[in-house]
Amino acid sequence: MTDRIYLDYAATAPVSDKAFAAALPYYKDIFYNPSSAHALGQLASSATERAREKCATAIGARADEIYFTSGGTEAINWAFSSVSDAEGKHIVLSAIEHDAAIACAENLRSRGFSVDYVRPDADGIVTADALEAVLRDDTALVCVMTVNNIVGSVQPIKELCAAAHRRGALFFTDAVQAMNALDIDVSDSGVDMLAVSGHKLYAPKGVGFLYIRRGVSVAPMMLGGEQERGLRAGTLDVPSVVALGAAAEEATADREKNNAHVKAVRNEFLRTLDCGAPVVCGRAVDDIVSVVFDGVNGGRLAVALSCAGVCCSVGSACSAGSAVPPRTLVEMGVKNADSSVRFSFGRGTTVEQAAKAARIVNDAVLRLKGQIV
Ligand code: PMP
Repeated sequence: MTDRIYLDYAATAPVSDKAFAAALPYYKDIFYNPSSAHALGQLASSATERAREKCATAIGARADEIYFTSGGTEAINWAFSSVSDAEGKHIVLSAIEHDAAIACAENLRSRGFSVDYVRPDADGIVTADALEAVLRDDTALVCVMTVNNIVGSVQPIKELCAAAHRRGALFFTDAVQAMNALDIDVSDSGVDMLAVSGHKLYAPKGVGFLYIRRGVSVAPMMLGGEQERGLRAGTLDVPSVVALGAAAEEATADREKNNAHVKAVRNEFLRTLDCGAPVVCGRAVDDIVSVVFDGVNGGRLAVALSCAGVCCSVGSACSAGSAVPPRTLVEMGVKNADSSVRFSFGRGTTVEQAAKAARIVNDAVLRLKGQIV
């Protein structure tokens, strides 16, 4: 379609062939309302229930613990609403959460909650010790993302969750950037809620789910009909839900192969890059890397790269346009965080593209530094 090189899979990924093919029949042939009691409606509802099973299997949950949403942001908002009637209580989140989680926490603060942020260490990891230091007996909710969207750091979710549970708090994790690379198992980690977004998982935009452990009580996200067991009213987007189920199944089946591919791409990119310092994490997925280019403004570099045919970003797509450096890097203590650019790789990135993109970056950095004209 274009000879531009797309290195922004953490912003969004294309719909996979399998997810697309799974969704197609539900636009025209099987267009029925899954809430209709008649036989045709049941064709649609059995498709959404099969998708629910697939999403549940992908994270080690039960089907009745999966609630479809319009994406990651809605799932995060919903998870925070689980404590919204606990005025006066305390919530804790990592300082490197997505804007959606930070906005929800600040909203709760304005309604009388107290809020504490836990900083990551220099490796981008939130440790159980750091969390324990701020937990209180009245902590209602702890929120730490599974994989950070700027540096790819993988958080020790099982340990963090255990620490929260020891103090009687619920534990929520945003797994939006984790579903491609990691085997997620909520029965092992013990998390109470987990958010997933379709469009980072090769399913469409505008669909996702919130896992809510059986027994955890949450307020309805949307009032109206009885959809999603009365907790999220509104007719489901059947094709997107079906695509999400297919994408979740595919990600699990192909994880090893996809991870090996992305690792090869990332290694080639970093091998060819002869400027900049990749931000190193204690443990990170290979899909995402932020690189600091001393002496160059990250925003200006990203614009120059876009003009030269490489599409990447400064921070997350959701905070694009803001002039502040990525919060994650600042909280990790990375110097010159405003000189950073995020590159993220996916199934469609070739090793050749990675090498070519890195050469274009080398050239653009020299030009911005005025060392070539
Ligand atoms: N959490 C993380 C870590 C993300 O990267 C994103 C997408 N930028 C979201 C949440 C929001 O997901 P959605 O775009 O589906 O609302």
